[in-house]
Amino acid sequence: MDADPLSEESQVLYCANHPGRETLLRCNKCNKPICLACAVQTPVGYRCKECVREHQKVYFNAAPRDYPVAFVVGFGVAAVTAPLVGLVVGSLGLVGILVAFLVGSGAGSVLAQVIRRAVQRRRGRYLPLVTLTGILLGVLVGNLAFLRATGLFPLLTLPMLVFTVLALAAAYPQLR
Ligand SMILES: [Zn+2]
Ligand SMILES: [Zn+2]
Repeated sequence: MDADPLSEESQVLYCANHPGRETLLRCNKCNKPICLACAVQTPVGYRCKECVREHQKVYFNAAPRDYPVAFVVGFGVAAVTAPLVGLVVGSLGLVGILVAFLVGSGAGSVLAQVIRRAVQRRRGRYLPLVTLTGILLGVLVGNLAFLRATGLFPLLTLPMLVFTVLALAAAYPQLR
């Protein structure tokens, strides 16, 4: 009997997307050969981009209406609260900076949780970005409206800027 000199193991594989590239890797889900450029390292091993995308479709389960909901809730809450918080921490001077450090992250977390609940904890690929844009616009528009009404612009104090940055930094990762 002639043994095939190229056994299954020693056989050279070529990437399914790049026929010219030799590789030793296979996607651990669909088993197709992939080169390093096509491999995505996941917690369960190397996978091809197609399988990763398929997996993300299950992971990202946001409904289309979640985008406007997250945007509007982020915008609305930020527009109402930002000028008021700015007025309070801004009037405290140096103490305001301390207060901003103490409660900024917590306030951002609360806002993130309010928004997560509004979209029933669904996840979307662009949902964090859309939400963050809504919050930022809310902060700006809220402060501009406050400026028109009162002549004060509470955003532009050091304590409020510290507060805003900390709140956004805490909120963003929780929106994913
Ligand atoms: Zn695959
Ligand atoms: Zn490739």
